[in-house]
Amino acid sequence: MTGFIRDIMEKMMPQPGGIDCGGVMAQLYEYLDGELDDPALQEKIRAHLEKCRRCYPRYNFEKAFLRFVSDRGHTSAPPELRRKIFQTLLEEEGHD
Ligand SMILES: [Zn+2]
Repeated sequence: MTGFIRDIMEKMMPQPGGIDCGGVMAQLYEYLDGELDDPALQEKIRAHLEKCRRCYPRYNFEKAFLRFVSDRGHTSAPPELRRKIFQTLLEEEGHD
């Protein structure tokens, strides 16, 4: 299956959890840090991540990255560094 057809099919699918990928990505750090004070939103994101093939790998990456950072004695990475690594991941993903 080509990436083009896959993209169209994903656009036609209902968004898991009733929230779209952009919405999930915008709140991903807050979700991971447990900083969302809206339990309904938290549940929507959880449901979305469980079903979404696009968001789940990014979520997993962020989770692993946070663990990597905290294993080294830091409670959080500078947002700039996180963004940079995240961006690199997204660009690599575009090459397949
Ligand atoms: Zn998604």
